[in-house]
Amino acid sequence: MLLLNPGPVTLTEYVRNSLLQPDLCHRESEFFDLQDEIKKRILAIYELDPAQWAAILITGSGTAAVESMLAGLVPETGRLLIVENGVYGERIAQISAQYGIMYKRIVGDWMQGLNLDVITSELDSTLKDQRFSHLAVVHHETTTGRLNDLPSLSKLCCERGVKLLVDAVSSFGAEQLNFSDESLIGIAATANKCLHAVPGVSFVVVRRTAICQATSRTYYLDLKRLIHLQDQRDTPFTPAIHAYYSLAAALCELKEQGGRRTRYQNYSALSEQVLIGMKALGIEPVVPISQSSVVLRAYHLPTGLTYAKLHDALKAEGFVIYAGQRDLSKTLFRISTMGDLNSADIDRLLKGVAKVINELKIY
Ligand SMILES: *Cc1c(COP(=O)(O)O)cnc(C)c1O
Repeated sequence: MLLLNPGPVTLTEYVRNSLLQPDLCHRESEFFDLQDEIKKRILAIYELDPAQWAAILITGSGTAAVESMLAGLVPETGRLLIVENGVYGERIAQISAQYGIMYKRIVGDWMQGLNLDVITSELDSTLKDQRFSHLAVVHHETTTGRLNDLPSLSKLCCERGVKLLVDAVSSFGAEQLNFSDESLIGIAATANKCLHAVPGVSFVVVRRTAICQATSRTYYLDLKRLIHLQDQRDTPFTPAIHAYYSLAAALCELKEQGGRRTRYQNYSALSEQVLIGMKALGIEPVVPISQSSVVLRAYHLPTGLTYAKLHDALKAEGFVIYAGQRDLSKTLFRISTMGDLNSADIDRLLKGVAKVINELKIY
């Protein structure tokens, strides 16, 4: 079965076999070597200087990293502006509410890009109790496959001294991220999306200077304690050691395959192949291609075809596709090109889709 859902992904044999390594105690030096190696390799993907940046590992899914970042990096006195245009932006607001963070949401149409004019006027508000210290956004909004305009946002933030927090859970490792931007202080990501490892470990890449302002709203996900202990080859709790094995292997493989840019090019070629094939069958993408990621794309369901029918037919051919979230489940479906996939796989997928469409015409 090939997974075309946005993580977990289809593993390579190399990564799958990496799970079968010796039993390991997380208080032994071998574990701390593994932890150090992963932290180093994560930073190396974007050529980050370990003196300026830290990768903080968390046992948990991508949401744990997002939660840890928000709960840790917005100080008690801070005010967070959340710009959202999908399910994951909404989740940022829900997490902020849970921790009693002072925040305001700018809720955009899920089918549209961020409204920079509205964001600018919020950031420029002169009302004293409305000045924002931080802004949070989802880089790749997996709900629709839209790549939000991070460069424009970070320019707005930079000019105003606002700190930027990014959910890059479904883009880190493939899409471009500009870490040299002064406003950027935290990015949350995970092992089992563009990095091609198993689920169980996620991480926050944090600018070290932001840590002195960090706060401890949460116990398990406390970024401050995690960075402090991990910097000293230590860990507060039992990590998902086998997930760590797989992440180390996946990071080695990423490097050997040519790194982030090569991964981007591979995704780009596969998602283009899907696009051309779908269009030939009369199936159109939901988001304009210039605004979409190479990681995942949403397509309109053809008239007369339900998601369930398409899903079941393709599953019978060996592919797991993904539904739209909430109301979008009735109108769209999603195809991710993450994981160990090649163009022959996509050919077979498109043949499967063609078969369903043709049957639709007959009945
Ligand atoms: C997958 C994803 C998450 C986290 O989901 P988990 O199920 O917790 O791994 C968060 N944000 C985005 C943009 C995602 O795509």
